[in-house]
Formats: sequence, C-alpha cells, structure tokens
Amino acid sequence: MQFKDVIGQESTKQKLIQAVTEDRIPHAQLLVGPPGNGKLALAVAFAQYINCSHKKDGDSCGECSSCRKYAKLIHPDLHFTFPVIKTAAIDKPTSSDYMTKWRTYFLENPYPQYEKWMQLIADENKQGAIYVDEAKDLIHKLNQKSYEAEYKVSIIWLPENMNINCANKILKILEEPPEKTLFILISEAEERLLSTIQSRCQFIRIPKILDHDLQVALMPMAASTNSNPAIIARLSRGNYFLALELMQNDEIRKFNFLQFTSVMRNGYGRKLQEILAWSEEMAGIGRVRQMSLLKYCGELLRENFLHNLKEADLIYMDDQELEFSKKFAPFINERNVIYLFREFESAYSDISMNGNAKLVFTDLGLKVSKLIRL
Ligand SMILES: [Zn+2]
Repeated sequence: MQFKDVIGQESTKQKLIQAVTEDRIPHAQLLVGPPGNGKLALAVAFAQYINCSHKKDGDSCGECSSCRKYAKLIHPDLHFTFPVIKTAAIDKPTSSDYMTKWRTYFLENPYPQYEKWMQLIADENKQGAIYVDEAKDLIHKLNQKSYEAEYKVSIIWLPENMNINCANKILKILEEPPEKTLFILISEAEERLLSTIQSRCQFIRIPKILDHDLQVALMPMAASTNSNPAIIARLSRGNYFLALELMQNDEIRKFNFLQFTSVMRNGYGRKLQEILAWSEEMAGIGRVRQMSLLKYCGELLRENFLHNLKEADLIYMDDQELEFSKKFAPFINERNVIYLFREFESAYSDISMNGNAKLVFTDLGLKVSKLIRL
C-alpha cells in the first residue's frame, strides 16, 4: 500500500510524511475517524513508507524488498490485530488464527468494514472481540528482535473491541514499547476506548473523504456499473466502502429500505398481526444484519425529517428513498422524530448486547405505531 493508493486525505499524508522526515515518529498513534475513510489504508501506507529503503517523492518506492512484502502483508515485522470470533474449533482465538482471511480481505479492499469482516469469519449471529490471548501473543511477538525492518509495526484495527483484560494487558507495552516498535491504533469509536489507552497515544483525527476525491476514485468503475460517480460520492458521505456497495447496487441497502417501509407502514396502519410477523422475520436474519438494519433506519429517519424541513442540501437519499419520502416525510416531525430515533437506537443497543431479537423488534414495531401518529 503506497500513499498514492489511498484516496484523498492529502493533509494527513503530509503530516505523516513530515513526522518521518523530521525523525519524530510517535511510538503510539491513534487514528480516529468515520468508517470507510481510509484510516487503515493510511496506517499501512505509513508503515510501508517508514520501512521503505528507497523513499522518493513523498511515497514509498513500491519496489524494494520491504515494500514488496508490505504489498502482500507478509512482512515479518508487520503485525495486525483485529476483532475475531470464538468457534468450537478455536476457543482462544487471536488474529494469527484469522490472518489468511484478513490478508485476502484487506488486499481485495483496503477499506474494510466491521460488519463485512464479521460476515466473512462468522455465521451472522456472532460479534467479534479482541480477546486477552491476543495481548499475550502480541507482547510476545513485539519482544522478539525485528527480523529485517528498522521498525516493527503493530497495527490494531478497531481497538474499541478489546475486552477489558486485553486492554489492561497491553497498557504497559503501549506506554513503553520495545525499541523501534510502533503502534498504530485505528478506531471508529474512541469513546469506547479506555482513557488510559487514549492517553498513551498521539491522536490524529482523519476526516471523511472529500466528495471530489471520492468521485475521482469512483470514475474508473462508473461505466461498467452504469452509475453516476457524483451522486454515489454524495450518497456515501465520504465512505469508500459504502460507495462501492452503492455502486454494486448493494442488496443489503435495498433489503433495509424495504424493512424500513414495512415497519413504518405497519406502524401507521396499526397492523398488529403484520407487526408480529415482521418481528419474527427480523429475528431470523442474524445479529449483524439486524444491527445494519437498525442503523440504516435511524439514518433514514433523519433524512426524512430533513426532507420535511426542506433542507435539500443536507439530504443523502437515493432515488427510491426520495420517492418514498415524498409522501412519508410529513409523518416525521418535531413531535416524534427524537422519540422515534431513540427507539431505533435503543433497539440497536439491545441487539448489540445480545438482547432477544424477537422481543426487541416486536417492541420496536409497537412503539413505532404509537409514535408515527404523533
Ligand atoms: Zn520501498
């Protein structure tokens, strides 16, 4: 991964390059920002740049021995940590157990998404974590001498998924890493990180990708998918992963949209039988899809409220959603929008904490039927 392969983010690239030029690379950095903005790609490009033996024109060379190994994520001094799952076969999982899948996933699309990653390694009812054995494994690896690079680099993707024992175990090495060892943490929810972890890292906020940069990146794919890069760039709000999904006419979005219309229509019509049947159906789609659906519904509520306020500049909907909103938006108003939004948030939180899905969705359907008529 070279800096030139990372979409946009020019000012962050310059900052990172400058730190190397001035020889003041922090031993622990925390890159924080919204999903799909290229934080992880930047971290890998940065690590590759640091270890490249022929840096030129503000980028790694892509050709030296180190760069070639980085390009395949097989450099022995590059360590990845990411959320994994427990299975019958692996009861003390670490990232090493999932490394082959991780390499394939990242090399296909260096803008990974948590939900997608979970789908790849789990059946849909599992949620990932970074378990305590991971800390032992990592501390052991980083205490070895480096094989060939100047710097050993440990990249931790979504450290907010570390369980508390793991987080506590890595505090010490994070504060006083072995010589020539760098940590780069990539977070999408810094508020879920222990403050003791945050305080040990230098913080870099990575913004969403600018519409223009995203549009340019999507251009080569536009013809084959028959889509408009300008609209996709806007709809995806600087999230490259989402942009690719939208371009491929992703089925999840369509499914989520259908469910949104169902829960709202059933609610408005106070169709109790339909609400119960719908809850049953939603209980069967698996936790990861449930969470994606609830998140989507919250976003679409917001869009409809804005539509209602005639805030066209702030609206991010596709044609299908906009068409539905023409009639639906007036039902989302200042009397109910906050309450509705809270119901979807609380359902999301219940599901994420392994709540009983059928109860959660039934309750949600009933609450919607009350609130939608306010
Ligand atoms: Zn190189």
